[in-house]
Amino acid sequence: MKTIGMLGGMSWESTTSYYRAINEAVKQELGGLHSAKICMYSVDFDEIEKLQHLDKWNETAAILSQAALSVEKGGADFLLICTNTMHKVADQIQAAIAIPLLHIADATADALLNDDINRVGLLGTKFTMEQDFYKDRLTSKYGIDVIVPALAERALVHDVIYNELCLGVISDASRAAYLNVIDALHERGAQAVILGCTEIALLVSQTDTPVRLYDTTKIHAEQAVAFALDDS
Ligand code: GLU
Repeated sequence: MKTIGMLGGMSWESTTSYYRAINEAVKQELGGLHSAKICMYSVDFDEIEKLQHLDKWNETAAILSQAALSVEKGGADFLLICTNTMHKVADQIQAAIAIPLLHIADATADALLNDDINRVGLLGTKFTMEQDFYKDRLTSKYGIDVIVPALAERALVHDVIYNELCLGVISDASRAAYLNVIDALHERGAQAVILGCTEIALLVSQTDTPVRLYDTTKIHAEQAVAFALDDS
């Protein structure tokens, strides 16, 4: 079994979801007392979040590249960045290390195309919904059309992530608001909706809506386990 490297803490609420999903997938595959080999560096999210909102992405890349190097030195065979947003600096992090990065958008695209979905709604932080690093990868590399919520809805989705979900606050009112946004994306032609922020599945689950949801945390974690257990 390969050792999974994790850059976590963004936020730690979602890193616990990753940790659980990875170990559950290993248990499912190998049974008994088997669990995942993991080497993790968990950052202080306050520092990262402040730099994000100041548009200081190079500074975040420097912090995360150092953390990734520690994970590599700790024995990881490959790396997961356990957040969609920080894939904005994925190329810089990859350039700092020798081990491969499993990109969360690639894992998600594989899952979508496997289900013949090529027009999809995207929920995430404003950075993920509005900038090119994520949407363009889905479109240019995989031919998947991406629809994002309207301006006011994007603000709502973003604010709930930082002011509630990353702090472990789960609110019925926010769930209802998210479900409205998901419905609106579906009405605009989305065949499914990507939960493109690793905390969103803490709020919304498939049982809440008939619209097909793709939870990036679970998809990324399961792809990591498949890669870790692949001996070829
Ligand atoms: N975990 C979130 C994501 O998947 C947001 C927190 C962050 O900015 O990294 O995008």
